[in-house]
Amino acid sequence: VHITICFLLFSPCCKCISLYSKKNPTTKLFIDGKFVESSTSEWLDIHNPATNEVVGRVPKATQEEMLAAVDSCSRAFYSWSETSILSRQQIFLRYQQLIKDNIKELAKLITLEQGKTLADAEGDVFRGLQVVEHACSITSLMLGETLPSITKDMDTYTYRLPIGVCAGIAPFNFPAMIPLWMFPIGMVCGNTYLMKPSERVPGCTMLLAKLLQDSGAPDGTLNIIHGQHAAVNFICDHPAIKAISFVGSNQAGEYIYERGSKNGKRVQSNMGAKNHGVVMPDANKENTINQLVGAAFGAAGQRCMALSTAIFVGESREWLPELVERSRSLRVNAGDQPGADVGPLISPEAKARVESLIQTGVDEGAKLLLDGRKVHVKGYENGNFVGPTIIGNVAPDMTCYKEEIFGPVLVVLEADSLDEAISLINKNPYGNGTAIFTTNGATARKYTHEVDVGQIGVNVPIPVPLPMFSFTGSRGSFRGDTNFYGKQGIQFYTQIKTVTSQWKAEDATVTSPAVTMPT
Ligand code: NAD
Repeated sequence: VHITICFLLFSPCCKCISLYSKKNPTTKLFIDGKFVESSTSEWLDIHNPATNEVVGRVPKATQEEMLAAVDSCSRAFYSWSETSILSRQQIFLRYQQLIKDNIKELAKLITLEQGKTLADAEGDVFRGLQVVEHACSITSLMLGETLPSITKDMDTYTYRLPIGVCAGIAPFNFPAMIPLWMFPIGMVCGNTYLMKPSERVPGCTMLLAKLLQDSGAPDGTLNIIHGQHAAVNFICDHPAIKAISFVGSNQAGEYIYERGSKNGKRVQSNMGAKNHGVVMPDANKENTINQLVGAAFGAAGQRCMALSTAIFVGESREWLPELVERSRSLRVNAGDQPGADVGPLISPEAKARVESLIQTGVDEGAKLLLDGRKVHVKGYENGNFVGPTIIGNVAPDMTCYKEEIFGPVLVVLEADSLDEAISLINKNPYGNGTAIFTTNGATARKYTHEVDVGQIGVNVPIPVPLPMFSFTGSRGSFRGDTNFYGKQGIQFYTQIKTVTSQWKAEDATVTSPAVTMPT
């Protein structure tokens, strides 16, 4: 079954790659329930970031193919939105089981195309799976409201209803979790969905689509197109698309928010980050250092919730040498190698960018406490590896502080007080996530109340909320007014219809026209 799926759908997983006769297998489009080869003449290569070998190709879908995909979504909408909520729930109950059954295959695809370690890739699938599990509570989540007897014989109630065709545009760094923030919630609410995965990591989304089809999702309820700017513009402009969920960089996210909103669509746009971890001198030292190292360098720092900036308050700065030693001990290797802690960056361009940002720190007067630029990974000399890097003595006006680095680089600042740390963070334009490490409840309370960041961890380094809550990045990290998943996710993908009805007894019939405003 696995090999058939691999052959039918997308670039092969490691296990099957040798079985391919074609060297660079093509990623299919998913249109109207069929996995079809694109007729485009424009293809992009997909690389294994650990070797830079080409492992597949992805098409830039043609205009006709994109139109066919959105038409399929439009045609499927009526019957899908009228399908009973219990039937939709059953499909997603089957879906969560199939994702669980295929977690290892999904993870292998992620590691092949994205580079993260297999254990981390399983975590990527698992955090998406939790959103699907939550979607299975749709029978409660979509309940409306009622207020009986708002006046004599009159009741008001609301329905929560789907809005139509919705679309998702995903980034490369979470090939499973982020698409799973999108189409399962949109679809379980009764919308049909057009998905555009990242052109660098499409394989996982294709397998997720196949599993959803196997779970019983009718043809046309999910369509998948591939591409870059033309596909994004198509989604922003097509009048049948009512809502866009975007996750990725600020450059793309601001653009999509503006263009989609101008065309009258709802847009939720999760973007870049610069997450600060504040280390108080009263923190549990062992716990804090381990948490910082994991959150700064896990996934090679390619997480929007990575703790990429540490602020050591007061005497906690004395822990820096230990932080450096523990970071140095992480093993940099290809993601599928046993014991790997830090995998490669997504592309040679990303590696060059990260290395040049490290150099700006040196040039602007910071102190390189650990330099991962010369890391050597035996057997993977062509991979995009950068080892854990720590830049100390950083000032807020330095480039390495102002830019999102998105690599295994921890930038370290020092502060004399908690107030100084909070003020620094509140001046930073991003507001995705932050953490404080302390054993003092009053300190933690002050921090959570005064810091202007949407997601806060207290002794929790990567506080990504579980799906019964919502992902609430704020300020420069988010555009829109309704967040991903949780109650807000349901709100984003639904609209409210309000019914006010009056049923009078026959002897109470209105006998003359009332021309004044009813009160
Ligand atoms: P990206 O913006 O390059 O790509 C995201 C999507 O947008 C892709 O599907 C891509 O095809 C498309 N795209 C890229 N450039 C575009 C442009 N100029 N115009 C229109 N469309 C464009 O992002 P990425 O490199 O794949 O992902 C990394 C970024 O995503 C980081 O900034 C990271 O912080 C952010 N991110 C944010 C969150 C969050 O929830 N806040 C989660 C994950 C990643």
